[in-house]
Amino acid sequence: MGRMHVFDRRSLREALDGFRGEVKFHEPLAVYTSLQIGGPADALVIPSDVDDLKRLVRQAILNKVPLLVLGGTNVLVRDKGVRGIVIQLAQLNHIRREANHVLYAQAGARMPTVLGYAIRHRLSGFEWAAGIPGTVGGGVVTNAGTRLGEMRDVLTAIELVTDSGNLKRIDASKLSFAYRYARVPKRVIVGAWFQLSQTTKEHVESLTKHYLRYRKETQPLTLPNAGSVFKNPPEQSAGSLIEQVGLKGARIGDAQISTKHGNFIVNVGHARAKDVIDLIRTVRRTVAQQTSVTLQLELKTVGEL
Ligand SMILES: Cc1cc2nc3c(=O)[nH]c(=O)nc-3n(C[C@H](O)[C@H](O)[C@H](O)COP(=O)(O)OP(=O)(O)OC[C@H]3O[C@@H](n4cnc5c(N)ncnc54)[C@H](O)[C@@H]3O)c2cc1C
Repeated sequence: MGRMHVFDRRSLREALDGFRGEVKFHEPLAVYTSLQIGGPADALVIPSDVDDLKRLVRQAILNKVPLLVLGGTNVLVRDKGVRGIVIQLAQLNHIRREANHVLYAQAGARMPTVLGYAIRHRLSGFEWAAGIPGTVGGGVVTNAGTRLGEMRDVLTAIELVTDSGNLKRIDASKLSFAYRYARVPKRVIVGAWFQLSQTTKEHVESLTKHYLRYRKETQPLTLPNAGSVFKNPPEQSAGSLIEQVGLKGARIGDAQISTKHGNFIVNVGHARAKDVIDLIRTVRRTVAQQTSVTLQLELKTVGEL
C-alpha cells in the first residue's frame, strides 16, 4: 500500500462507480482513530450494505486502487494520510442469534456491542473482550484478546468478500492464529460466527464488570490511545520492561508514554504520527540496549509519513 501503488483520479472514480454509500474525499482520518492522529484518506467510504461493499472491492481491485479497512483502535495513521480508499464498516453492524448458542455479528459491529448483546441473551464466552473497543473484523484479524481469552477461542467461521467481489465463508479451523495475529485470506471480512454457551445474565454481567473495573484502574482510558503499543515478549510484559528502563512518562511532542501503563502511548494534545513513531523508536532502542529484548509492535502503522 502507499507509494508503491500508482493510480489516478480516473481509477478512483471508476472504483466508486455505482457506490451507494457515503463517500468523503480528502477526509482527515484523525477523527476515525482512537489515537486521534492521522492525515487524510483520498476517499473515506462507508458502504451501505454487503452488496455495496462487494461491488466496491471488485471495482477497486480491477482499477488497482488500494483498499484499507479501518476500525481505528489499533492503528497509527501517518501524517500524510492514506492513498486510495479507506473503508469504514459502520453500516455493517448487525448482530443476530442463531441456533445452539451461536452468535453472528457483522464485521463493523463493535466488540462492546457484541458483548452487550451476549449479556442480554445470557450467553457466556465473550467476556474476555470487555474493554476492547475495536470492531469484530479488526478483532478477527488481530486475534484480539487478553490473558483471559481471545478471538480464536470462540470463533467458528468468518465470512469475507474476496477480491473478485464474491462472498466466501471460511471455517475457523482453516485459519491459523498466533498471539495477536490471524492469517486470514484477502480481502474484507464482513461477518463472524461465535460459539458461546448459555448461562445466567448475572454471571456474564458480573464477570464483565469485574474486567472493566480492572482496566479502568490500570489503563489510561481518559486520554486518546490505541491500546497496547508492543506485543508482550514471551513470559514478559512490555509495559514492565518500559517502566524498568525509566521511560514511563517520556514525551516527544504531544505523544507520551502513559504514566499509568508503560505499554500505552497517549495523545496529550495535538500529537503527530511522527511524534509517536519517534517515541516508539526511542523505546525499542532503550529497551534493547538495557535488557537485550527487542520489542515487536502490536500497533499497526499505515499511510505515508
Ligand atoms: C483502550 C484500548 C484498549 C485495548 N485493549 C485491547 C486488548 O485488551 N486486547 C486486544 O487484543 N486489543 C486491544 N486494543 C486494541 C484494539 O481494540 C484491537 O486490536 C481491535 O481488535 C482492533 O480492531 P479495529 O476494528 O479497531 O481494527 P483496526 O485497528 O482498525 O485494524 C487492525 C487491522 O485489521 C484490519 N481490519 C480491520 N477490519 C477489517 C475487516 N473487516 N476486514 C479485513 N481487515 C480488517 C485493518 O486493516 C488493520 O490491518 C485496545 C485498544 C484500545 C484503544
